[in-house]
Amino acid sequence: MKDDIPRDRLRPGFWNQPLSKLTPREWEALCDGCGKCCLNKLEDADTGQVFFTRIGCRLLDDTTCRCAHYENRKQFVPECVVLTPKNIGEIAYWMPSTCAYRLRNEGKPLPDWHPLITGDPDSTRAAGQSVQGWTVAEFEVAEDDWEDYIIEDQ
Ligand code: SF4
Ligand code: SF4
Repeated sequence: MKDDIPRDRLRPGFWNQPLSKLTPREWEALCDGCGKCCLNKLEDADTGQVFFTRIGCRLLDDTTCRCAHYENRKQFVPECVVLTPKNIGEIAYWMPSTCAYRLRNEGKPLPDWHPLITGDPDSTRAAGQSVQGWTVAEFEVAEDDWEDYIIEDQ
């Protein structure tokens, strides 16, 4: 399977470096392609706790687990947050618990199923860690009903 996240010609083991030391290509290559961050979320106004739902963002293709318009996604989804080394510290707490950026921000290692560890671009899906095939389209559910689709922390 071809990896649509470029991971060639990068420093060996770069993912063990602090996030602030990564080059832009290394930063992009850190993504495991799970698509979990593109699930719509609900936040408890009182506690600030974030809950993931099975409802995918309107641009999420849950066959590929990729954004359908990644380059110009902000035109379609202005609220989409672009992760950077500068903002990861503030954002990490609501990213999925398996997210490579969150894990590295917390000083934790990548999981053994991460494509950078396995060398296999399909290993995230094979480990049951991607959203492939189980999301509900945003347009199918009224926002008032999103809480019926809350899932366990990802
Ligand atoms: S949750 Fe993290 S690792 Fe998974 S697709 Fe989103 S940014 Fe990439
Ligand atoms: S706009 Fe694209 S990258 Fe942003 S949440 Fe939606 S699918 Fe994900």
